Amino acid sequence: MLTLYNYLTRQKEEFHPLKGKKVGLYTCGPTVYNFAHIGNLRTYIFEDVLRRTLEHAGYEVKHIMNLTDVEDKLIRDAQKAGQNIFDFVKPYEQSFFEDIDKLNIQPAEKYPKATEHIPEMIALIQNLLDKGLAYKSNGSVYFHISKFKDYGRLSGIDKSGLKAGARVDADEYNKEDVQDFVLWKAKKEGEPFWPAPFGEGRPGWHIECSAMSMKYLGSTLDIHAGGIDLLFPHHENEIAQSEGATGLPFVKYFVEGEHLLVDGQKMSKSLGNFYTLRDIEKKGYSPLAFRYLILTSHYRSSLNFTWESLAGAESALEKIFDFIRGLLEQKTTGDKDMGPYKKDFTENISADLDTAGAIAIVWKIISDYRADSQAMNSREILKLLYDFDEILGLGLKNIKVDKAPQKIKDLAEERERLRNEKEWNEADKIRKEIEELGWDVKDTSEGPELKKR
Ligand code: AMP
Ligand code: ZN
Repeated sequence: MLTLYNYLTRQKEEFHPLKGKKVGLYTCGPTVYNFAHIGNLRTYIFEDVLRRTLEHAGYEVKHIMNLTDVEDKLIRDAQKAGQNIFDFVKPYEQSFFEDIDKLNIQPAEKYPKATEHIPEMIALIQNLLDKGLAYKSNGSVYFHISKFKDYGRLSGIDKSGLKAGARVDADEYNKEDVQDFVLWKAKKEGEPFWPAPFGEGRPGWHIECSAMSMKYLGSTLDIHAGGIDLLFPHHENEIAQSEGATGLPFVKYFVEGEHLLVDGQKMSKSLGNFYTLRDIEKKGYSPLAFRYLILTSHYRSSLNFTWESLAGAESALEKIFDFIRGLLEQKTTGDKDMGPYKKDFTENISADLDTAGAIAIVWKIISDYRADSQAMNSREILKLLYDFDEILGLGLKNIKVDKAPQKIKDLAEERERLRNEKEWNEADKIRKEIEELGWDVKDTSEGPELKKR
């Protein structure tokens, strides 16, 4: 039984979808005005684990993730770059898809773009105007939050101190600024705009997620996920817009992931601690080591990223890969029951996605095997680890034992002979030659081992 922490009730709940085994999952996607930073990627990894856990449990998941391609900051930066928004976002969209691919994040069923759903947003805004939940002012349209009695239910904000008629035009704002928020922004010189019955302009940020999630998943979604910064105002506003328009519950489970911090601080360009997956790769770390690092903490705890922790994750993951290579090479035929490991893994991951607990089971298998390998069956272990990896997504099935070609083996033998004769310089020359041919020699107590670089 899967349990998830639901922000609507502020407690862990058993997960039961609305319709049988089908799950509608909506996750707020990137604003494509920059390369995704590693905090964004943490959130996408947690959402991927959520999706994989659901699928592993036999649910059929329809996952929709939007791409925000019209928004305040994006328009500002496109203007600075002297480009229209459509050309401006292209490289960032492309890099987003490259990043998630490198991180083994399974693709969503659809990535709808805001600019391709303007008619749906207009219809939703018109519906809110017709119901008296929205009003026009100076060519813009605002949501009337005091007319929606449940406003604040998700974030717990207090709307009693609201100033009548106070409005906020920015897409992003804080709890201190709880006010009527903008659904449609009146046309401004130099900004993209679309025609609408209530005047030319462009959508606010919040309306896009209500319009696109309901278009693809229906009026009530099983799960809506995102990073914790979206709880207020974004998700609060989505509830108001959607429930205001349909009169139906918008979301059954709101699942939000905590932030990634860097050196204990919020990531920001001005602090110089703003990293992307490219930065990680440039420093010689693999994207999957980053994924492993993220999995070692619970998604609802904030995680402090340091380069040391990434280096630790890289070497831990390499040990797991080595363990897999070992299993592929040495067949053991013990009959130890693997059922308890599977049960423990499933219990951990089903308890609100405790990935750290789940990974600990992988290490338990490794240490038990090291203690008594003959008691266990190497094929059974592999089968189980591949099964766990359907959720962890560390690419364990791609790990192969690379058999060194004869030429490399001959060189290694020659090097060994020279070492035995204490011809260290000559032996080193051969090591370099082997390395240039793409192999590493590791000297172990059982003799030299060859590993593909
Ligand atoms: P954005 O591109 O800003 O719309 O954000 C995309 C996703 O990343 C959203 O789900 C955010 O909540 C999430 N996010 C933003 N900053 C962080 C962070 N430092 N750590 C984790 N998730 C974040
Ligand atoms: Zn959203």
